[in-house]
Parts: sequence; structure tokens; C-alpha cells
Amino acid sequence: MSRRPPSPSRPASVAESPAPAPGASHALVTRWDGDDAEERIAFLASAGEVLSASLEWRTVLQRLAELTVPVLADWCAVDVLGDDGRVERVAAAHREPEKVALVHELSRLRPPDLTSPGGISEVLREGKPVFMPEVTDAMLPGLVRIPEQLEVARRLGVSAGLVVPLVARGRTLGAVSLVRSGEGGRVSEADLELAMELARRASLSMDNALLYAEAQERGERLRHALEAGKEAEERLFFLLDASRALAEHLDDVEWTLEHVARAAARGVATCCLVELVGPDGALRCVAVSHRDSGRDAFVLSALSPSMNMGTLHPTRECFQTGETRFLPEVGTELRERMWQGPEHGALLEALNPHSLLAVPVRMRGRTLGVITLGTAPPQRRLGTPDVTMAEELARRVAVALENASLYRDAQAAVRLRDEFLSVASHELKTPLTSLKLQHGLIERALGAESRAKVAPRLSTAMRQVHRLTALVDSLLDVSRISLGRLALEPADVDLGQAVRDAVDRMEEVFAQAGCSVRVDVPGPLAGRWDALRLDQVLVNLLTNAAKYGAGHPVVVEASVEGVETVRLSVRDEGIGIAAEDLPRLFGRFERAVSERHYGGLGLGLYISRQIVDAMGGRIEVESRPGAGSVFTVRLPRGLDAGG
Ligand code: ADP
Repeated sequence: MSRRPPSPSRPASVAESPAPAPGASHALVTRWDGDDAEERIAFLASAGEVLSASLEWRTVLQRLAELTVPVLADWCAVDVLGDDGRVERVAAAHREPEKVALVHELSRLRPPDLTSPGGISEVLREGKPVFMPEVTDAMLPGLVRIPEQLEVARRLGVSAGLVVPLVARGRTLGAVSLVRSGEGGRVSEADLELAMELARRASLSMDNALLYAEAQERGERLRHALEAGKEAEERLFFLLDASRALAEHLDDVEWTLEHVARAAARGVATCCLVELVGPDGALRCVAVSHRDSGRDAFVLSALSPSMNMGTLHPTRECFQTGETRFLPEVGTELRERMWQGPEHGALLEALNPHSLLAVPVRMRGRTLGVITLGTAPPQRRLGTPDVTMAEELARRVAVALENASLYRDAQAAVRLRDEFLSVASHELKTPLTSLKLQHGLIERALGAESRAKVAPRLSTAMRQVHRLTALVDSLLDVSRISLGRLALEPADVDLGQAVRDAVDRMEEVFAQAGCSVRVDVPGPLAGRWDALRLDQVLVNLLTNAAKYGAGHPVVVEASVEGVETVRLSVRDEGIGIAAEDLPRLFGRFERAVSERHYGGLGLGLYISRQIVDAMGGRIEVESRPGAGSVFTVRLPRGLDAGG
């Protein structure tokens, strides 16, 4: 009897169909005794091909089962050992295809495990084959594990069998059970050898398939990691952009929030809604944006809480609880709960959000607003990292709102102070003018005798009024400057003469301070300047030199510098100024001396600089503590422009 295996490239179940292919007698394909070495090699070669054709290990094992029937067995089962030690029947074949289900049933009743003695368990445990050349009906109860299996085993038929391991790289992956069921069906040593050979090839293919799956999984993980990296970068970029906008536009937070909403809807989300609490305590939309700007209005109507609300509303809930509301997957059920009526339903439909996130903008325990983000397909759903990002954004918005409110308060305070200065200095000016007038009248009305008695007191009173007037004038100037009303009236002026006049007028001041004054001006220095304002600068600098350089000489120099510029300097040898104070001394109300030792408002240098600036010039100071100071003013002569 010549026994040859069917071509393995034909599925065994087809080759084994109840009506055998014409020309192939049943006997020819039911038995294989391994005595024909050539056929055996040919069978193994084409089996190897069939087994290696798939990269899916379950398919590999199913092909294996089909290859063995009927060449090596009447029915076959393949079990694999999982990483968790559990055994799963993954493939089965039977020469009568309708009985394949019974092979599975056998395992379903009680799957093999690693602990039982004999059979599949032993093969899985030891990695070595089990050979049962003859199984009698009396042996059967010893081979099954529970009585229910006996009945199934009898229906399948068992007359001989062998179980071979699937081993790859030293690891037992599973077991292949090959069973003869026919009357007098036996298995031989040659069958065992062929089965082992087949199992080796199947193991190799299975191992390849497993490696391939692993490589694919790694690839998938890498792709995920790269995607996550890209998303993280997108979030970071958005946060940076938002923070920059929030920091740069203190005065216009609402504009900034529009910018932030637009950036969110272009990057991390599909749409963004920013609402802040209004004076009435209710939320008010300040910014809304959709990736497709034509849908901005949908976002507002679909997401902003309205009077007639569904049972679910993330923005409203977030506002009420002051806590983040995150709906990572918005499906039909959630959408139904958000439904506020047919119109709203249609808007929601158009917006089609598949994830929603509402974060509170909170500052010192108060909820100032809510930022709502949503994504719609094809954009990805929002995830936990987006929650962290949105909460960080909300924190920054809260800080920006706080800063903006402080900034507004500060500006209002400055305005109030300027208004007060302006009103107060004007109000003070009127009685002072009248007081000066009265002093003059009194002086003129005095007889020679009474004049001798009161003259020193009268002149002290007049000097005090003069000082008071100077202070009030400074305040008035400050308010003029802050209102931008420092008007100049240029006229022909000789700077040399102006210097000499100012020094002369201040003779008494320098005498009282114990300062000698040297004026060094070579000839006339003509230019077009506002004479009164120029005099004001001179008087300020000379007053300071006498005040802070008392007891030391003062030198005033003026000269031409280049063609267009004159240079004036006032040098003293007094207390000097510390380097760290220099940059701020020309600011409003800035001083570098203690009020106890030196009186003053800290306005002289401020006003001087404003005047010099208005004339197109520059004022600078050089000084060292204890060594004195030099204030230098450079002024364009303005001769061309002025004619
Ligand atoms: P005030 O003299 O009323 O304080 P100023 O604006 O004229 O205001 O001057 C601002 C500050 O600059 C002074 O308080 C003082 O600290 C410093 N300062 C001005 N001139 C001199 C100077 N010649 N020597 C030393 N310090 C000076």
C-alpha cells in the first residue's frame, strides 16, 4: 500500500472532505508510515512553506492542525501556554469537519493546566513529547480530567495518540495533540518523528510571528510616543504664546483673551469659549473662537449656559463648583443630557464636540470666570495632559486679570493725584498772589519810624511767601507736565547774561549757604529759548548746589559746543550722590537725601529735565558721594528754526 501525504498547500480539511477528490482513494491519505524518505522530505518542505506564509501566529497554528489531519492523525488540537500560565486551545482539526467543535468542547469543559499529571500538561511542563501507541477504552477515563469529558472523548474516538511540544528559543510555547480514532488506529515512532519535525517548523513560524507582532507593537508605541511628544510641544507652545500675550497687554485683558481663544482653537482644541463674571455676578462671554471662524457663534450658543438648561452642562457646573469639569468622551448619551431644546440640539450637532473641558479661573477663592475647550473630529480628543494645560492657562489668566485690575487702580490713583495737584496748586496760587500784593502795600504804607521797626520781619515774611510761591509753582508745573501742557515761548536769549542774572539774584542764598560762586562764561551765547523756563532750570541747579554743597565753592560754566549747541554746567563740592541713586533723581518726587536733613519736594530736577527735553536738549549728572556733583545741560541753540 503506497501511502503519500496530501499536498500540504491544499487545506487538509478540503483534502479530507467526506467525498474524497477523484483519483485519491481514502486509504491513500489516511495513513503515513514514514517509510518513503523522499515523500517525507517533500511533505515537510511544503509544510514549512505553508507554515511560514503567515505572520499571524493563530493562523500558523490553525494551518499546522490542518496539515496533520489525516496524515498524522484523525483529529488534532493545538494548545498554547500564555505568559500568565493559562492554557488556551487555539486551533483544532478533525477529518470530519463537523466534529471540530467537539475538539474545542473538550478543552472548554476543563482546559489543560500545568499542574495535572500526563498528557498535554506534562508536555507543556517538560517540553518533551508524550507517546501513546495504543489507547484502549478502559484507559480513557484515566486520560480525561472530568467525567463530562469522557462522553466527548468517546464521540471523537481515541485509539492512539501523541503530544509534541512547540518550542522556540528554549521556551515551551504550546503543545500539539495528535489522535488516531479509527478502529485499530495506531501511531508509530516514525509518526512521532515526523510530528516533532513538523512542530519544530511550526514553532519557528510561530516565533517569527510573535517577534513580528512584538516589533509592530514597539513601532506602534514609538508612534504613540512621537505623537504624544508633538502634542506636548503644541500645548507648551500654546501656553507660552498665551502667557506672553497676557503679560504684554496688561491694559487690555479682553483683547488678550480673544487672542488666547483664537490660539486655542487653532492649536490644542477645536473651539474655545472664555467667560468672565460680570458686575451682576453672572458669566459674560468675552471671547469665543472656532477653528472654522464661521462657527464662532455656534460655540457661544451651544456651550454658554442659558436659562433653559439640560441636566448636564460642564461650563455651568464648573462655574458653580469652582472645579474642573472634564468630559473626555462626549457620546450620544451625554449629548442628550446637554440638550436644551431643538434649536440648541441642532447647534450642538453642528459643533459635534467629542470631548469637552471647562476649567475655572480662580483667584483667592473666588471664581472669576470659566474657560471651556472642546474638540471635534477629526481632531483628537482632549486628554489628561490637556486638563493640566488648561488649568495652568486658567491660573495665568487669573493672574493677568488681577494685574490688570491693580494696574487700573494704580492709574486711577495717579489720575486722582494729578487732578488734586492741579486743583490744589491753582487754589493756593490765588491767596499767595493776594498776600504778595498786601506785603507790597504794607511796605509802601510804612512811615520811616515804623519801617525801621518791622522791616526785618516784613522781609522774612516776604521771603517765606516767595518760597511758598516757588513750591506752588513747582506743583503747578508738575500738573501741567502730566497733562502735556508745558508750553514754551522761544525768544532771543543770551545764555551768559541769563546765568549772570540768576547768580546775582541768588547772591543772598549763596551767602547764607557759605558758598563762593565763580561764573565762567566767555562772551555772549545767543540762542532762542523760553527765557523764563531757562531761568527756572538755572535757579533749580543753583539752588541745589547751594543746598547740597553748602560751605564749598560753586562753579558755573557756559560755552559753545560745536556749532549748534551750548553747554552749561553747575559744579559743587558738596555731599555728592551715590551711584545707585543717579538714574532715578530726574523722576517725579525722587530724592536721595533724608527729609530730616534737607527739605524739598523732589521736583526741581524732574521739572528741569522736562524743560530741557522740551527744548530738545539733554541734562546729565556726574557725581561721587563726598566729592560733589556736576550737572551739565546741553541745549540746541535753535537759531535756524527761530530765524
Ligand atoms: P529736592 O532738592 O527738592 O529734593 P530735586 O529734584 O532738586 O529735589 O533733587 C532731587 C534729589 O537729587 C535731591 O533730593 C538730592 O538727593 C539730589 N540732588 C540734587 N542736586 C544735588 C546736588 N547738587 N548734590 C547732591 N545731591 C543732589
